[in-house]
Amino acid sequence: MREFRDRVAVVTGGGSGIGEALCRHSAALGMKVVIADVDAAAAERVRDSLANEGHVVIAARVDVSQPLEVEELAALAYRTYGSVHFLCNNAGIVPGGRHQAVWEFPLEDWHWAFDVNVMGVVHGLRSFVPRMLVQNTESHIVNTASVAGFVSGSGSAVYSASKHAVVRVSEALYASVREQRAPIGVTVLCPGVVSTRIYDSERNRPERLRPAAGPASEHPELQRIASDLYANAASPDDVAAQVFDAVRERRFYQITTPMYDDAIRARFDAILSRRNPEFPQLLDLARREGAR
Ligand code: NAD
Repeated sequence: MREFRDRVAVVTGGGSGIGEALCRHSAALGMKVVIADVDAAAAERVRDSLANEGHVVIAARVDVSQPLEVEELAALAYRTYGSVHFLCNNAGIVPGGRHQAVWEFPLEDWHWAFDVNVMGVVHGLRSFVPRMLVQNTESHIVNTASVAGFVSGSGSAVYSASKHAVVRVSEALYASVREQRAPIGVTVLCPGVVSTRIYDSERNRPERLRPAAGPASEHPELQRIASDLYANAASPDDVAAQVFDAVRERRFYQITTPMYDDAIRARFDAILSRRNPEFPQLLDLARREGAR
């Protein structure tokens, strides 16, 4: 898609970070924007700021883990603007305690991460793609995964497994729209570390998914490295600019940094040569990234 003016963008998780930047870039290109976020105040803050600049924008409180709420979002977007050309299934969370072993994460973390990160994307596709197919105009869908959808090892197992699933779902979407010759471009966005509030995801954890023992705390050294890492990381604005390049060029994999290429290559080399993998430890990875 190369024409954006007067077209319609819907962004989940649009109240902060990468989602907010996608809303701002969409508006700057002359698109009408629907900002969806489980944090109504965050979505309204972005809406008010864009409306004050003269952009056409609405905000909605939507929990993407709830299929009916995403269905209502699609109905709202089509009722208000008549069509949707740019859908960003971007809302996501990271449960804390990234250094835990895979069997140690509480079940609540698995449910929360898969409900939001994976099913949030699935709900977006189920509610919007059929409408976009009927609409039959040039459009584009961006699903936000992560480099954690390609790199592996012990660290952040729950989040990473959910992002692996987002990559797979996105590949299926890409293949299906091509097979059906639908005019829908697809990008799976795989950012490295980006300076957002993702590290503070616990703010959005629903009460019913709060583990009895409370959310796990981070390893103190990881906590220290991570705060520096996130403060000095790529900006959401850079990431949004890369997304629009990918949309214009119809690029599917948008990996925002080459920093993880060696780890991704080593993993696939091991798979293809039937060698047992050697994964970097999360703390080593973080130390290495922090040192760059
Ligand atoms: P962020 O916390 O700044 O923004 C995420 C937004 O999603 C918030 O506004 C939050 O309120 C919203 N959200 C959370 N749960 C929701 C739900 N159930 N329904 C609707 N909205 C919900 O973080 P971000 O970094 O901008 O995250 C955006 C996406 O980027 C996520 O999918 C994340 O996994 C991915 N990502 C981030 C990084 C990074 O380093 N920041 C790296 C790779 C991938």
